[in-house]
Amino acid sequence: MAATVLDGKKIATEVQEEIKNDISAFTQKTGITPCLAAVLVGEDPASQVYVRNKRKACERVGIESIFHHLPVETAEDDLLKLIDDLNNDPKVHGILVQLPLPDSIDSLRVLDAVHSLKDVDAFHPENVGLISQGRPRFLPCTPHGVLQILHRYDIAVSGKHAVVVGRSDIVGKPMAMMLHAKNSSTGPDGANATVTVCHSRTADLAAVTRTADILIAAIGRAKFITADMVKPGAVVIDVGINRTDDGLVGDVDYEPVAEVASAITPVPGGVGRLTVTMLLYNTLKAAELVAT
Ligand code: NDP
Repeated sequence: MAATVLDGKKIATEVQEEIKNDISAFTQKTGITPCLAAVLVGEDPASQVYVRNKRKACERVGIESIFHHLPVETAEDDLLKLIDDLNNDPKVHGILVQLPLPDSIDSLRVLDAVHSLKDVDAFHPENVGLISQGRPRFLPCTPHGVLQILHRYDIAVSGKHAVVVGRSDIVGKPMAMMLHAKNSSTGPDGANATVTVCHSRTADLAAVTRTADILIAAIGRAKFITADMVKPGAVVIDVGINRTDDGLVGDVDYEPVAEVASAITPVPGGVGRLTVTMLLYNTLKAAELVAT
């Protein structure tokens, strides 16, 4: 069986076009241009690429972007002061703090300091709480991107067994919450799954992953999910981004798994494209919150 390739690039282009039109209508109606402030501390090359891509995407859809690039030795209090200034700046609707922060800085303290109405990454405890109660304000970008891919390829989630490998606050945990919610941004078909969450202490992981109708890998280990761990006909979503000598690879051993799965996301060109896109979506949402 040759799996359908779930083309994240195509879906991202489609969603960004919709966001661009929505922003144009919003700005025309309110006179407000949505604005995202990106904060980068240090010189991590991958983080610099991520921030550059996010800013370019902002430009494409009509979001103003402001960039604060701070030296690696920045004191935590100085970073908190910047966050406070951005919280109080009425021109700024969304604040993005690029992770990872240097070890000398308490990341949780910084992320908690971002105003919950400007928290376009949906990391703030208030926003996480709202998601867990099924009344989200912002949806975390990567899991929301996954739901968009499934929806736009007409892959219903409702009633399926979804197995999420990984339980991080950024991907695995919110992904699971969104999959087993009663509703989603794409309607009830995009939610209502029966969800199993796996992690590094899961016993006989392969036995669990083989029961998945939809398997989502968010582990951070190159080619970790092999063909024998996948049920024939399953939909496989690869969130992983791993830098290896062979270039960027996902958490899924792509070619052999594509022989078994019915649909699969590639790396690159899969979920990553949607992560940036859903950040744009949240920035418009944050501006709408101010306008209403
Ligand atoms: P974390 O390191 O925070 O979490 C990894 C998770 O995988 C943990 O829950 C861990 O379990 C679990 N895990 C690790 N080893 C195993 C194992 N042998 N068996 C089962 N579970 C295991 O990573 P993130 O969630 O932040 O990211 C995951 C991947 O997704 C990374 O490759 C990252 O680069 C990528 N990513 C991609 C994005 C995109 O836009 N496409 C966005 C964000 C991340 P435990 O909790 O027990 O330690």
